[in-house]
Formats: sequence, C-alpha cells, structure tokens
Amino acid sequence: MILGHLTGTYLVVKVIKPKATSLIMASTLIGAYFPDMVDKSLMLLNIGNGRFVAHSLPMLSLFLVVCFWIVNTKLKEHVSLFMWFSLGCFLHLLQDWVQLKTLFWPFLGGLDRPVSRSLIKITVNFYSFKTSPLIWAELVTHGLFVIYQIATFTRKYARK
Ligand SMILES: [Zn+2]
Repeated sequence: MILGHLTGTYLVVKVIKPKATSLIMASTLIGAYFPDMVDKSLMLLNIGNGRFVAHSLPMLSLFLVVCFWIVNTKLKEHVSLFMWFSLGCFLHLLQDWVQLKTLFWPFLGGLDRPVSRSLIKITVNFYSFKTSPLIWAELVTHGLFVIYQIATFTRKYARK
C-alpha cells in the first residue's frame, strides 16, 4: 500500500481511540510511513531493496525498544506519543503484507533484488493494477475511509 497507510492507519486509530488528539493521529501516521521513509531512502542509496531493515520485525522492534528506552528516560512526557508512533510502524508492516523472508530478516536468508530503484516507477507500477495485488486492499481501505468520513459527517450534521 502507498496511500492506504494513511487511510488504514487513520481508521485503526479511530477504532482504538475515537477521540484521538491530532498529536496522537500525527504520531501514528508518521509511524505508519516510518518503515518506508527508512528503507526507500536506503534503497535510493543502493542499500537494500526498499523493504529492508525497517520492514524486518526483529530489527524494527529492536530499534523501537532502544528508542523507547531513550524516550522513557529523557522525554518521559512523550512516551504515550512514542507508543502511538510504534503502533503506526507495526501497522505499516501488517498493511504491506511483507514476505516472511523480509519480515524476519536476517533469519530466513537474504532479500530479493528490488523490482526497480525508482520511486516513481514503483508508484506507477503499484497503481497500474498490473503487478500489485495490494492495490485491491488499498482500494477497500480507501472505501472504508470514505464510508467512515460520510458516516461521521452525517452524524455530526444530524445533531445540529
Ligand atoms: Zn513499506
């Protein structure tokens, strides 16, 4: 998913915490893109295939545990926001349907070569309906997001 990380994560936050503040939402949404921010940046530097260390559950977890320790000792008042950020990171892996080899890297062997190193080509391929089965999951997620927004708007309008 590409934009589905936004709409899907937004919906999950609204289910868990309907009255989530904009700071909570922002923290979770940034977390929802964090694995791609790291791994796509590394790919542009010819490191990994776009789903690398930040898409590996053990590596991501280790990173988040270290960050949690730092936040918990130095910035205790932001621990809650950090937890929402972490949730966004893990939701990213779930929404990507990461291959087991990637999800448990480096324990199940090496990574596949990237399909392309161009972010534009990857995006165009994704939305071309040709190569990515995740496009359908993305469309369903967007559909649910639109239904949620319409329901919320209708409920708000009906109260006035
Ligand atoms: Zn990803």
